[in-house]
Amino acid sequence: MSGAGSTAVNTLLPTSIVGSLPKPAWLAKPEVLWSPWELQGDALVEGRQDALRAAVHEQQRRGIDIVSDGEQTRQHFVTTFIEHLDGVDFEKRETVRIRDRYDASVPTVVGAVSRRQPVFVADAAFLRQQTDRPIKWALPGPMTMIDTLSDHHYRSREKLAWEFATILNQEARELEAAGVDIIQFDEPAFNVFFDETKDWGIAALERAAEGLRAETAVHICYGYGIKANNDWKATLGAEWRQYEESFPLLQQSSIDIVSLESHNSHVPIDVIELIRGKKVMLGAIDVAREQIETPEEVADTLRRALEFVDADLLIPSSNCGMAPLPRGVAFDKLSALSAGARIVRQELGVDVGVGAGVGVG
Ligand SMILES: [Zn+2]
Repeated sequence: MSGAGSTAVNTLLPTSIVGSLPKPAWLAKPEVLWSPWELQGDALVEGRQDALRAAVHEQQRRGIDIVSDGEQTRQHFVTTFIEHLDGVDFEKRETVRIRDRYDASVPTVVGAVSRRQPVFVADAAFLRQQTDRPIKWALPGPMTMIDTLSDHHYRSREKLAWEFATILNQEARELEAAGVDIIQFDEPAFNVFFDETKDWGIAALERAAEGLRAETAVHICYGYGIKANNDWKATLGAEWRQYEESFPLLQQSSIDIVSLESHNSHVPIDVIELIRGKKVMLGAIDVAREQIETPEEVADTLRRALEFVDADLLIPSSNCGMAPLPRGVAFDKLSALSAGARIVRQELGVDVGVGAGVGVG
């Protein structure tokens, strides 16, 4: 086990996953997003830790270089964080439109928002104890947070986002102190609210990432393979060019890594030219279907990307979270990802021991 800080990955094309992995059936109902816990009290605490251990073990066994918790200790990538804040009333619910796409019953902001105590820091410290590899932790982005709430207090999306950015920065600094090498902010809202992204979204994201020594990442995507998202994707046409709105702004930003989906998506691969100079976490694994990618398919996706990103800046990844998939399928997709990366590494003549240090603190 590592003591202070982690060992850098000495591998070109270090693999990673965007976020969630399926939870074991004894912890939460499988193949369902945001499913309730099957355990309670101390058994739940222990169960979540066991699931996190298993997630780490499988990632390492399957050749994933930058390890995450697979979101085993939380139910929802946004709500679980908000649940720990003051100023939000979860009893008082209203129906609002999420990401301009589907209606959902959401909690209400009723007063000044603040963080009572660290939210994920103990879980991150636990993850740190389980592996010597670089670790990545995901937080929701400020714009995506405000989009899952009804606000009766600030009455300004920008103001509320700014408050959340300040809170996220407190959490991120403590995650960094707990040994997290990469702090990722999930901002799927950047693919929807283009004007707000430009006006204050990027600034709020940079505020959340301010002063961190850890590397910072932003994940922008088209969502899990759930029906509302699939219906929306069907309206986007043959080429998905939404990233063209945020990428030039992110290229100019302080964020180190940009995560996007690629394999089986309609995203033109040349959009990554717009973030030249940034690290690119590229989705080479489709999370919306169960068919396992072949290593060759993964390698193809990576090769196409390498026309637009330098090899030492490419991080092969999944398109999005894998929570809705059967567990065995998700794990086999991890194996495909690392096998595909290995093929391209060999082609580049650097199978092991060269190049991109990731998470060097
Ligand atoms: Zn995503």
